[in-house]
Amino acid sequence: MRSTAKSELFRELPSVDELLRAPGVATLAAAEGISPVTDAARAVLARLRHEISSGFLDRPALEIALNGIESAIADDLRRALGHSLRSVINATGVILHTNLGRAPLAETAIKHIRGTAGRYSNLEFEVEAGVRGKRDVHVERLFQKVLGPETRNSARVSTIVVNNNAAAVLLALNTLADSGEVIVSRGELVEIGGSFRIPDVMTKSGAILREVGTTNRTRVGDYEEAINERTRLLLRVHRSNFEVTGFTEQASTAELVELARKRGLPLMEDLGSGALVDLESFGVAGEPSVHDSLRAGVDVVTYSGDKLLGGPQAGMISGGADLVVRMRTNSLFRALRVDKLTYAALEATLLAYVKRNHDAIPVLKMMRLTRDEIGRRADAVAAQVRDDGNFHPTHKEPGKDGAHGTLEIAVIDGESVIGGGAAPSAVLPTRMLAVTCKGLSADELAARLRGSDSPVIARVEEGRVLLDLRTVFAEQDKEVAAALERVAGGAER
Ligand SMILES: *Cc1c(COP(=O)(O)O)cnc(C)c1O
Repeated sequence: MRSTAKSELFRELPSVDELLRAPGVATLAAAEGISPVTDAARAVLARLRHEISSGFLDRPALEIALNGIESAIADDLRRALGHSLRSVINATGVILHTNLGRAPLAETAIKHIRGTAGRYSNLEFEVEAGVRGKRDVHVERLFQKVLGPETRNSARVSTIVVNNNAAAVLLALNTLADSGEVIVSRGELVEIGGSFRIPDVMTKSGAILREVGTTNRTRVGDYEEAINERTRLLLRVHRSNFEVTGFTEQASTAELVELARKRGLPLMEDLGSGALVDLESFGVAGEPSVHDSLRAGVDVVTYSGDKLLGGPQAGMISGGADLVVRMRTNSLFRALRVDKLTYAALEATLLAYVKRNHDAIPVLKMMRLTRDEIGRRADAVAAQVRDDGNFHPTHKEPGKDGAHGTLEIAVIDGESVIGGGAAPSAVLPTRMLAVTCKGLSADELAARLRGSDSPVIARVEEGRVLLDLRTVFAEQDKEVAAALERVAGGAER
């Protein structure tokens, strides 16, 4: 008997052709093309069929669904033809949030991409001579300006760019140590960002990992004892996302440089973040810069473009020109090279360093924001939400549970972090909006904020939603306020 009822309901469903003839759907098809609209109509019908067969729809519910079928098709079409990758508002206070795209680009970088990517460019062309050129030249001169012209042993500093730092490490190891041994401290066999593991990259590069020391203590003598005729490289890896504290010891860079010189081996350092400025003045201690490493005598340094450098996703290999030229001629380099968009973004970002215009680089600017500046913005957002709540009488019906007044906002002290596997222990004092809403759990409130047109991504801690405006662009503050007002409004129902 139930199945008869269902088959009757199925008969109520229009065919795809009938749907396409409906005036609203025909208009959509004229605007967006028949093929995506047909797909959307099929998808909506399939959903209805599924709901009927699972018993979710009775006759009255089906009537309602059929009345709204044109707008359901329009919604489906909007989702199918809209962008999947879109901007969000990062209110987590994590400056280099890998899930949120790490470093936002400088305006000048975006402008340079716009100015070159939509047209032909001299990517690999020497305009004056009219001959083929090299794509690296566009950033090489700037890296030399930023890093200084030569290393400690007066080799010229050269830099090449690949897809990301993982690729940089792979290329460097393959070039310098294929089939040979690479000595690494057991305290530095790190995993970064889920899938980058030093031992795995080492295997893929063809190099053989030679572990020395222990997790907490490795002395320079441990490296020295492990050197043999198969040794090609000494490798130091920056412990980007964790710290070893307590009974610890690590060979100093100076000791490793001396050992490498003495034994005629190159020393490589995977810095990870690769700051191009001294971050002490930005309130971040203990994060070594690329200059520090090169000046100390490290032969090859690898680092990311979209971490503390504040540019596009890329991986840099900087070091003595004699070694870097071998990487450039490795056929792997061709497979790992970057495109014109990356060069454009990187060139503009490096120019900001050359001009010492650090505030043009969003991640550096965010790092420098003071607790007081952020506090003033947080107070203003809180005040705006409270004022608007009082202003709209519909939002404030006295005594009505779930009305606007149930949004509780406090501005409290907190800490922002760098993230992205950089300076794990560096914390930047901040002020945060701590928000709760009667009738909603903190997780539900956070989910509603993510459901805004510009999704607002916040932290949830101890039953509250925390929003740190350090990572919110100042012009987005009003969108944060609007999102808070909307979630409170939505809670009325
Ligand atoms: C982040 C990091 C990597 C990976 O860099 P990607 O640019 O994400 O590929 C490798 N090594 C270290 C030490 C890192 O911190």
